[in-house]
Amino acid sequence: MPQITFATNNREFHKDISEAIKQYFKANGKSQRGNTSLFLKAFFMYAVVISIYLTLVFSNAWFGIQLPNLVSILMLCTMGTFMAFIGFNVMHDSCHGAFSNNSTINEIFGYSLNFLGADCYYWKVKHNVLHHTYTNIDGVDDDIFKPPFLRMSPNQPYNSMHKNQHKYMLFLYGISTLFWIFYMDFNKYFTNKVHTTELPKMSLKNHLIFWFTKIYFIAVWVITPIVFLGVSKFLIGFFLYNFVMGIVMSVVFQLAHIVQGVDFADAQNLGNIAKIEEDWAIFQMKTTFDFSPNSKFLTWALGGLNFQVEHHLFPKVSHVHYPAIRPIVKEICKNHNVPHNEFKSFWLAVKSHFAMMAQLGENPKLVSA
Ligand SMILES: [Zn+2]
Repeated sequence: MPQITFATNNREFHKDISEAIKQYFKANGKSQRGNTSLFLKAFFMYAVVISIYLTLVFSNAWFGIQLPNLVSILMLCTMGTFMAFIGFNVMHDSCHGAFSNNSTINEIFGYSLNFLGADCYYWKVKHNVLHHTYTNIDGVDDDIFKPPFLRMSPNQPYNSMHKNQHKYMLFLYGISTLFWIFYMDFNKYFTNKVHTTELPKMSLKNHLIFWFTKIYFIAVWVITPIVFLGVSKFLIGFFLYNFVMGIVMSVVFQLAHIVQGVDFADAQNLGNIAKIEEDWAIFQMKTTFDFSPNSKFLTWALGGLNFQVEHHLFPKVSHVHYPAIRPIVKEICKNHNVPHNEFKSFWLAVKSHFAMMAQLGENPKLVSA
């Protein structure tokens, strides 16, 4: 991985904003981590997923209840959506250490990702370190590296497939969780790398957790449904809920960074020792957007991922606090003449993501000609 440094000549914004948020929590006597309502939300989301799983898999074998196909389809779509919600609300906060004041609780709830079939050890490197530090920097931020099918940065090589990427990307988003569980995790495990970043030697504990996760996933989410429902019903159900989860997860994460108006940087072109001519916090503000900040439902369901500006500045602050700290962040941005980017609604952000992907799918030679 290239060595990347950020400019340090304009750190006043970062200092001011950090101080203001510290003061907010002090003045209100609040912890920066999650609260009781977050625990209740986590419990509710898990209850929805587990009860749908039990109903779909065992209702016929144990109680002789044959669910109508339409009901099964609706339940599978709901389960896929709530699995993504567990990812946003429980796993994401926990892996950042923001879910609870207790680090053991954060570690346990961080395994929510393992519950979904992927490994949280790799997520913490990919997301907490690479994505959060080097947001939208091509060559390091694994979130924007999806070759050869998707071109997610103007610095990436173009191929003729990309001109249609905005038309087929939803299908790729749909299969992304299956790709993650069955390919990407193993690729990281056997290469001991996340994208261009070499990992330290993995501990025995993490080796065991990795293999336990994969065996648990196959046993609970593949073999058990096959035994109770048969192969064809299993295949349809497995594909459907994963497809829904993949689309919900991918779209929500992409709306913050791959939209019109964001900045990109290219570590590979900058050389092995790259310098970003911007303070880290200001760079975050130029590469990140909020969306639909006034929607109570989205704020509840998406685990604060509609407040990505606040999240990128303060990843260790639980998402339950983002609506309250957002006006403070906006005020300080205004004072320092730093952009605070946002889309008023979810659909405006979705539209901008599709438009951005269409733009990135244009042949750069023709665009510059
Ligand atoms: Zn994050």
